[in-house]
Amino acid sequence: MAKSSFQALPGTRDLQAPDTERMRALVDVFAEEASAAGFGMVIPPMFEDVRVFDRLGEASDVVSKELYAFEDKGGRQIALRPEFTASVCRMFAEQRPITPWKVWYSGPSFRYDKPQAGRYRQFDQVGAESIGTNDPDVDTELIALAARFYERIGLTNVTLLMNSLGDAADRPRYLEALRSHFEANLDALSEQSRTTLAVNPLRVLDSKRPGDAELIEAAPVLADYISDEAATAFERVCSGLDLLGIAYERAPRLVRGLDYYTRTTFEFAAHGLSASQNAVGGGGRYDGLIAALGGPEEPGVGFALGVDRTLLACDAEGVFGAPDATMNVWVVSTSDGLEALSITNELRRSGLRADRSFDGRSMRAQMKAANRSDAEVAVIVGEDEAANQTVTIRPLRTDGDQVTVPRAQLVPAVKELLPS
Ligand code: AMP
Repeated sequence: MAKSSFQALPGTRDLQAPDTERMRALVDVFAEEASAAGFGMVIPPMFEDVRVFDRLGEASDVVSKELYAFEDKGGRQIALRPEFTASVCRMFAEQRPITPWKVWYSGPSFRYDKPQAGRYRQFDQVGAESIGTNDPDVDTELIALAARFYERIGLTNVTLLMNSLGDAADRPRYLEALRSHFEANLDALSEQSRTTLAVNPLRVLDSKRPGDAELIEAAPVLADYISDEAATAFERVCSGLDLLGIAYERAPRLVRGLDYYTRTTFEFAAHGLSASQNAVGGGGRYDGLIAALGGPEEPGVGFALGVDRTLLACDAEGVFGAPDATMNVWVVSTSDGLEALSITNELRRSGLRADRSFDGRSMRAQMKAANRSDAEVAVIVGEDEAANQTVTIRPLRTDGDQVTVPRAQLVPAVKELLPS
């Protein structure tokens, strides 16, 4: 085949059925669970004033290296969203909805990441956020939403990692302790982490570089530095998870890529995937982000799950395959009239899955297409049927006899022949 002049850009993919159908089914499950728990869908724009995302923290890779930022024709500095939380918070700050504001979303995010399996430059996320309440039970409720979602899609090999980052006021003391620890061992630290250390020592803990692992293991633990209030809130979240039977591991060195997180922080790791892409989702509290975007001092908590990675994890566990897309009926017509058009339309209006061939192909070619479609029955209109206002219905997957019925009997007669 001749090579086309253009290819999809690195880190982007052309998705088609059945992958797209599977993705849609996954989002449908999430939508059902979120909606049943009182979360309303939001659709923020895919691009924003770049400063909305700058607030996520200059030390995060997402902002410093991976942002798709550019100037639009109006001279505005804008960026494609690298995630939804900042847009949702901007939306809250601008619209001031009644609190608690519980929302969910789905759609693509964009990061100039190094493309590899499970890491793309355009990838889909689903997520939920709850803004306007400090109640730690809300944190538990959100994690429980993700857990029900995993349960519904049949994913079991996922570990929930939990940590508390404490409050903003707890941070300086801990950062100081971390900085001293890493500075005392600067030679052992990777070059990239040394750069990160200068900007934000917390982010060094996020390094996945093998050389840094030992130093990170020996680093001071945040739990020793957080306030009593933050510690009590964290224990409340953990008790809630215990009560709901949601298993988790405490991960005292878990920090998240973005700087605005406070208190509860969590990540979902799928064991079926390799370490560099095993984070299928994550989230936490971000008390302070809304105020940083010019909104009121309202706390927030939320999470986002990577749709593409979740599906890779499903592949690894052999669960949540593509939904059945086979046709019920294939319409075959060798008459010159418009019968195929009206019959197919009538079948579809009655709720059946129906399709047909085009281009006036021979009976043989059309029957071949019918068989290839996996349809259970064929509805056949030849010259005789057209002249007599009848249709012939032929079972394709069973030994049953074909029947010829008046055209007006089409739908009930087809339904009779379909397996229930
Ligand atoms: P994050 O905001 O980095 O925690 O991202 C939330 C989730 O989105 C992650 O757990 C991943 O599942 C997914 N994700 C993040 N970056 C990418 C990417 N470049 N490609 C595919 N999925 C991603």
